[in-house]
Amino acid sequence: MDEHSYDVVVIGGGNAALCAALAARENAARVLVLERAPFGQHGGNTAFTAGLLRFAFNGNAQILELVPDLSPEMIRDTDFGSYSEESYYEDLGRVTEYRTDPELAGLLVSRSFETLKWMYGYGVRYVPPYGRQAYKVDGKYTFWGGLVLEVSGAGQGLVNFLTKAVQANDIDLWYGARGCSLLTEGSRVSGVRIRRDGRDETVYADAVVLACGGFEANAEMRTRYLGPGWDLAKVRGTRYNTGDGIMMALDAGAMSWGNWSGAHAVGWDLNAPAFGDLTVGDGFQKHSYPFGIIVNARGERFVDEGADFRNYTYAKYGERVLAQPGRFAWQVFDRKISGLLRDEYRIRQVTKVTGQTLEELVSKMDGVDPQGFLATVKAFNEAVDDTKTFNPNVKDGRRTNGLAIDKSNWSNRLDEPPFEAYAITCGITFTFGGLKITANAEVVDTDGNVMPGLYACGELVGGLFYLNYPGGAGLMNGSVFGRIAGSQAAQFAVHDSTAVPMDLPAQRVGNQMPFTGRAAD
Ligand SMILES: Cc1cc2nc3c(=O)[nH]c(=O)nc-3n(C[C@H](O)[C@H](O)[C@H](O)COP(=O)(O)OP(=O)(O)OC[C@H]3O[C@@H](n4cnc5c(N)ncnc54)[C@H](O)[C@@H]3O)c2cc1C
Repeated sequence: MDEHSYDVVVIGGGNAALCAALAARENAARVLVLERAPFGQHGGNTAFTAGLLRFAFNGNAQILELVPDLSPEMIRDTDFGSYSEESYYEDLGRVTEYRTDPELAGLLVSRSFETLKWMYGYGVRYVPPYGRQAYKVDGKYTFWGGLVLEVSGAGQGLVNFLTKAVQANDIDLWYGARGCSLLTEGSRVSGVRIRRDGRDETVYADAVVLACGGFEANAEMRTRYLGPGWDLAKVRGTRYNTGDGIMMALDAGAMSWGNWSGAHAVGWDLNAPAFGDLTVGDGFQKHSYPFGIIVNARGERFVDEGADFRNYTYAKYGERVLAQPGRFAWQVFDRKISGLLRDEYRIRQVTKVTGQTLEELVSKMDGVDPQGFLATVKAFNEAVDDTKTFNPNVKDGRRTNGLAIDKSNWSNRLDEPPFEAYAITCGITFTFGGLKITANAEVVDTDGNVMPGLYACGELVGGLFYLNYPGGAGLMNGSVFGRIAGSQAAQFAVHDSTAVPMDLPAQRVGNQMPFTGRAAD
């Protein structure tokens, strides 16, 4: 069996792994990245993303630090606003029903801006997502919902930038190399057994970083942990995140942590393939629902489409679609809104029907009860309170009153033909449950002790996201904790791989603010 030896080995090939590898290389001589996917399908879920980033910042000056080539005209015509650390932290608390780990959340928030600057130093470039996260109001692009930058070239751009940096920094990167099990010596992790080109090999390492995603692409684990029906969800991203990293750590004694029955899941085109398609990326999502209505097979609404900005509801509404009869739903809009629909509603592969009347429309909406639908639209139209002006940039309070499920914002009557409807099902993005880590990204065992030599970051860490998720926090999570994990692993490997446990005070900075919105308990 072939044997290899490195200071640090990173398992995974997405954003968290590549950030970990770069951070490790700042302190360690020999770093290896193992990417299970073959070249061309590499980059994990990261490659499928829009590249949207949630980070704390204070006004235009800090945006210019990340996008120095923004033209004076763009700066003049754009209101980026600001997104304070307090707001970010509070948003994490609010959407997770205050279950998020305060220390991890504090680190994510307080390290977000500086980590993007660190990535900028490695060649990652950012652009404002004008098309998706801003509307032009009174001649100015105004951003809403805490997302003001995305990576240039989206997810594949991010993977390309980071891969280039990894290669330029003499880090070895093996494609088609699957981490299978951890090597241990007593309580210490000392390497990984892998499979490459059908052959088993051994990689010895002073420290191992697990960054190989959740279990969203594993139908058996989805059903086991998320529950019945989840085997029938579509996978939005990579087919390679089958829970390997979580399982190999649990086998070595790691503690399971976080929301194991929870996942990020969205409304996703009914006819999308079983796994993500890199040529379409996130184009199968349908995220303009706050401006229309969503109905099920009975023709009934089942969520408050306008409860909040899309960025704070989309990740939990996939599960609601999965719970509907037949596991599908239709989003419905009229002419007033069609110009506001996001780009994904115009892709070639979209499942769309149109009608000049609501009767014609519903006759084409496969599986929907026409009487139920027409009654729903009639009641909805009658309930719209149009004393408030429709404004997509703010929660406009234009609501319905008196319905079993009211719509809280952006309510418009469906009364101007042509009408459009889009068929969706549940698309799972990533799972929330995983491993427990310290603020140094050290993996913790079932006795609550650090497992010497083992670090984890990204999707496979539990404790940060519960029940829901604020858009753009997944990449930021991978970057912040990837950087911490890589740097800690390298310091452990190079300086102190025999002494355990370790405590590196420089990283213990989580700003454990109280959550202001939390109800007293
Ligand atoms: C369609 C879509 C759109 C999204 N849009 C956004 C967005 O705009 N902004 C945002 O913040 N988040 C977004 N997300 C979420 C985001 O993708 C994830 O939160 C983030 O990319 C996770 O990074 P990661 O490095 O932990 O995992 P991944 O990027 O999934 O990387 C995991 C890697 O591990 C590899 N791997 C798996 N098992 C093994 C093994 N046994 N051995 C070796 N390698 C292994 C995989 O091949 C993969 O390369 C989106 C997700 C999807 C699917």
